[in-house]
Amino acid sequence: MLCLSDVFKTYVYYLRKAVYLLGYVMELKILVEAFNQLEKITSRTQITNVVVNVLKNTPKEIVDKVVYLLQGVLWPDWKGLPELGVGEKYLIKAIAKATGSSEEEVEKTYKTSGDLGKTAEMLKMRKSAGGLTKFLSSSTGRAGLTVEKVYDTLAKIALTTGEGSRDLKINLIAGLLTEATPSEAKFIVRFLEGRLRLGLGEATILDALAIVFGGSQAYRPIVERAYNIRADLGSIARLIAYEGIKSIENIKPEVGIPIKPMLAERLDNPEEILSKVGGKALVEFKYDGERGQIHKKDDTVYIFSRRLENITHQYPDVVEMVRTHVLSNEAILEGEIVATDPETGELRPFQELMHRKRKYDIHEVIKEIPVKVFLFDILYNEGEDLTTKPIAYRREVLKKVVKESEDFRIADYIITEDPQELEKFFLYCIENGGEGVVVKALHSNAIYQAGARGWLWIKYKRDYKSEMIDTVDLVVVGAFAGRGKRGGKWGTLLMAAYDKKTDTFKTVCKLGTGFTDKDLEEITEMLKPITLSHKHPRVDSDIEPDIWVIPQYVAEVLGAELTLSPLHTCCKGAVKKDAGISIRFPRFIKWRPDKKPEDATTTDELLEMYRRQLKKVEESPTP
Ligand code: ATP
Repeated sequence: MLCLSDVFKTYVYYLRKAVYLLGYVMELKILVEAFNQLEKITSRTQITNVVVNVLKNTPKEIVDKVVYLLQGVLWPDWKGLPELGVGEKYLIKAIAKATGSSEEEVEKTYKTSGDLGKTAEMLKMRKSAGGLTKFLSSSTGRAGLTVEKVYDTLAKIALTTGEGSRDLKINLIAGLLTEATPSEAKFIVRFLEGRLRLGLGEATILDALAIVFGGSQAYRPIVERAYNIRADLGSIARLIAYEGIKSIENIKPEVGIPIKPMLAERLDNPEEILSKVGGKALVEFKYDGERGQIHKKDDTVYIFSRRLENITHQYPDVVEMVRTHVLSNEAILEGEIVATDPETGELRPFQELMHRKRKYDIHEVIKEIPVKVFLFDILYNEGEDLTTKPIAYRREVLKKVVKESEDFRIADYIITEDPQELEKFFLYCIENGGEGVVVKALHSNAIYQAGARGWLWIKYKRDYKSEMIDTVDLVVVGAFAGRGKRGGKWGTLLMAAYDKKTDTFKTVCKLGTGFTDKDLEEITEMLKPITLSHKHPRVDSDIEPDIWVIPQYVAEVLGAELTLSPLHTCCKGAVKKDAGISIRFPRFIKWRPDKKPEDATTTDELLEMYRRQLKKVEESPTP
């Protein structure tokens, strides 16, 4: 017999269904079906099609939220808002509450499934067998969770802090899981754990936005440029959804939203460098610090890192310098923040800045590790977009806008066409604590290429006294158990380069040398929360490590030379059939927390480095 509450539920169901049909809200079901598909496919075209389908079914009011959820985040990192990453204990409690199971039961199921998301799904299935949820989801469909509700609740969970927050979070999660279907519960739990990293890179979402709102992939460069100028995919999607694709064609930077940094190519021969940049060049000191993108609007200052995180809180001293040294009301500048010796004022290496990451005693740390700022670009000034202007013009503006001092000034530089002069300045930079030089093209097309690594900037770095002229930055995608002294730890890592074309990570080498005991302890802890039971969909590997991990950590690696190897997938077949490019005797140098996995050395760069190495060997005189 139907009771009053069932009648009410049915009424609510039809009311919601009517709202869905009008297109105002989006059922979570649509997103979860897409997530389920994405788990099974690896082809870039198929993945793009799934995302296109999701975006086509998304009401414009929530397109930004859907884009973030597809990325596995709630908002861009640079907003500096808390991330989800809810601990296992909370989730176990919430799953128990939502499924009427005991915590022991949840733990037992978790032990066998090895996946909390699956655990929630299984327990929900058990619970709903024969229940009302099953009835509603069978023939009539279901008036279930909406994307909006889930997003808003997840945001609330992330933002809840302080006293009593633990219980509140558990209740909010349990509430969501109670309403969810088994499949939805699986993804909600994975999202809460911070593990919902599907095979979706930014590149795929950019393609999908171009197709949905422009009508074809031909619009991809326009969408990409907009995203490079305002690195917030959600807000770009919203802008296009409301105002059309044309509205982003001439998009300008906005103070407070980071611009993707322009990056340099690498070479080690002054003649070649000068000819690549067209003869005359601006040759700048390459400081070994942290890149800072400085945004100023009146007295408000933000500093964004190379990977676009908001690092303003680490540099209250720089914030003060910006207020007093930058004369414009509104500007976006770039420079290198460098640690200095408090006694001598000499430049210190990048690693020293890591102490600035401490949250609590920053004012103490400021005294121990003072910094200087060396500015090298200006991208926006008083309403003028400077990214489209040549570097000579940008430098003129920079000079006018900055009141220089000992600690806040324009980077040292020379302008030259002479390789010998370049070499002399390079040596001077190295002797004075620099990493080498960055050589910049001075011609009229030398604009600021946001988000691109190109030949307008070329870095010429110190030789590390080895065959490889430069270190490479590789991403950890898996690990092998250590033996002997390293037993119980992850002793060797499987490292990969980024393949831009396919938006995947391709393996280059195993890395087991260069780690201290402390590093190994840390690695074991670092990998714990990102361990996967299966290969990440964006990883392309012929090797099977003991564990797979979400591509997240980037390490600087130096090797004896680049070699060909049948084991690795990086540039497989590009030089020789069935062989990829690998690194001989790779050694860990340091972590690169300032780099995202997509900022790692690309497969194309490794191919270029390999070709150069071959050329050098061919050119060297035989004894
Ligand atoms: P690397 O690992 O060599 O520091 P990267 O991948 O971080 O390089 P690149 O664009 O390849 O970035 O190299 C330039 C980097 O050098 C910038 O990101 C910036 O942090 C640093 N740098 C130091 N001095 C300068 C300068 N004068 N002009 C541009 N970049 C500079």
